[in-house]
Amino acid sequence: MSKTKKFLLSDQQMPTQWYNVVADMPNRPLPPLDPRTKQPVTKEQMCALFAEELMAQEMSVERFIDIPDQVQDLYKIWRPTPLVRAYGLEKALDTPAKIYFKNESVSPAGSHKPNSAIPQAYYNHKQGIKNLTTETGGGQWGSAIALACQLFGIDLKVYMVRVSYNQKPYRKLMMNAWGAEVIPSPSNTTQVGRSVLERDPDCSGSLGLAISEAVEVALRDPSTTKYCLGSVLNHVLLHQTVIGEEALLQMEMAGDKPDVVIGCFGGGSNFGGVAMPFLRGKLIRGENIRVVAVEPSSCPKLTRGTFQYDLGDTEGFTPLIPMYTLGHTFQPADIHAGGLRYHGAGAIVSQLLRDGLVEAQAVPQLETFAAGLIFARSEGIIPAPESTHAIAAAIREANQAKEEGRSRTILFNLSGHGMIDLYAYEQYFAGKLTNYDLPDQVISQSVDRLEKIIK
Ligand SMILES: *Cc1c(COP(=O)(O)O)cnc(C)c1O
Repeated sequence: MSKTKKFLLSDQQMPTQWYNVVADMPNRPLPPLDPRTKQPVTKEQMCALFAEELMAQEMSVERFIDIPDQVQDLYKIWRPTPLVRAYGLEKALDTPAKIYFKNESVSPAGSHKPNSAIPQAYYNHKQGIKNLTTETGGGQWGSAIALACQLFGIDLKVYMVRVSYNQKPYRKLMMNAWGAEVIPSPSNTTQVGRSVLERDPDCSGSLGLAISEAVEVALRDPSTTKYCLGSVLNHVLLHQTVIGEEALLQMEMAGDKPDVVIGCFGGGSNFGGVAMPFLRGKLIRGENIRVVAVEPSSCPKLTRGTFQYDLGDTEGFTPLIPMYTLGHTFQPADIHAGGLRYHGAGAIVSQLLRDGLVEAQAVPQLETFAAGLIFARSEGIIPAPESTHAIAAAIREANQAKEEGRSRTILFNLSGHGMIDLYAYEQYFAGKLTNYDLPDQVISQSVDRLEKIIK
């Protein structure tokens, strides 16, 4: 009998609830704090910036949360996404391991980001919000939220990290095609941007700085304008669990159970999205499963950062979040995995890492591109530079299985395709990419500046 390559769910089999892992965590995340008073932020404070229902989800301890019908209908533009058995990659690696990947690159924006963009636009629209502001690093979040805002008739301003704005003109054009205004950050449209440009006119920007600009604009008119975020926060991770909920059903169809679930890690949403539904079995029933978050060696908050309260942005507009962090003043190297250049990790995954329930690995840039090409040449899909981190870790697992002469089942999330990141591949082919070794001293410079709220 010929092999099954793709495990597909029908529209009717798409999960109708998101999974909130907080309900099952042995230690729930510490509360976010107001940077001025160091007291827990109230829901009212958060709602000045974000839609109310999103903040209810942010603080929820319910195990499952219904996906609204209208969101389900829009998810069906591309969901359920395929679970694919990577026979080609297995053969290329000559490994006894079985490798599966969840293909989130099939969304209109080319990544997992619309899984949260659609519900975020939906809840803002439901509340009567007419304008959203946001930031984007690699441009994937910006394009996802542009699509979502277009579907709900919301006007969108996107602050795009300047290095990506210059490297990725096509993402800007996608955002424009979906009706959004795109501004390179730092910009002279905000106080924060102007003051940075005064000090450093050539500043290439950072996610934290772009957040500061987008927040500043949203706070000018909180009754009609809100801000939204594509990663890090709990509600974003929550929305992404549709990935893992589908994958649970699909692994069952395949008659397999993953020994290890892998996702690349920027702020934690695609990793959390694929991994948390699988972690549920471990938290509730003590099942034996590993979940591995993979970050770039050049931005190693999980493996070399400190667990501490830190700001989500550079200027102090966001609450203090209990996170593994490199410090909000950390300036990551201009690596091509733009979506992974963020100084901190979301509170849920940070707490789980602290409790030893998730693992973290850092992979150098050259290994990730080599892995991405092995994947492209064996499975056909050119992966996003971010996703190549998950592929590299999956390959490490598969090679270890080979060394040990033992099979194992590996599931990784293909968070996006790289068709709009071919510039990065061009740089790789030209031998222009490096690994950016990061001395301890550079990390301690920004980490030592943090106030030690957690002793
Ligand atoms: C944004 C992005 C990431 C990183 O963000 P997470 O919130 O950690 O998932 C990873 N891969 C792709 C393709 C992205 O667009």
